[in-house]
Amino acid sequence: MATIFSKIVAGEIPCHKVAEDDNFFAFLDINPLVHGHTLVIPKKEVDYIFDLNDNELGAMILFAKRVAKAIEQAIECKRVGLSVIGLEVPHAHIHLVPINKESDIYF
Ligand code: 5GP
Repeated sequence: MATIFSKIVAGEIPCHKVAEDDNFFAFLDINPLVHGHTLVIPKKEVDYIFDLNDNELGAMILFAKRVAKAIEQAIECKRVGLSVIGLEVPHAHIHLVPINKESDIYF
């Protein structure tokens, strides 16, 4: 059965898309920790990020870096924090969370 995130990639569930390439997709978190909280996922359905092979994981990190740079330009923030939690949705993802001060670190 397709995951919620696969349905988002397929356009079956609406989202606010941030970026996309052939293999990866980025969209705003529905329940953001802060303005601009973005999720980066592989289009390929993989349960957890560390189930990706090394090439796939490397490509996903580079895609996330490009998205983080775009977020930094779009939103006033000091850093874009990166986190891997993965307890709620069984589809590999990276959280990108704009941060301005230490108290913004929620994860
Ligand atoms: P995790 O699995 O890393 O604990 O968290 C999954 C994240 O996905 C949560 O931050 C949650 O708000 C987000 N999320 C869950 N369902 C949806 C959805 O249907 N749309 C969007 N945009 N985000 C979702």
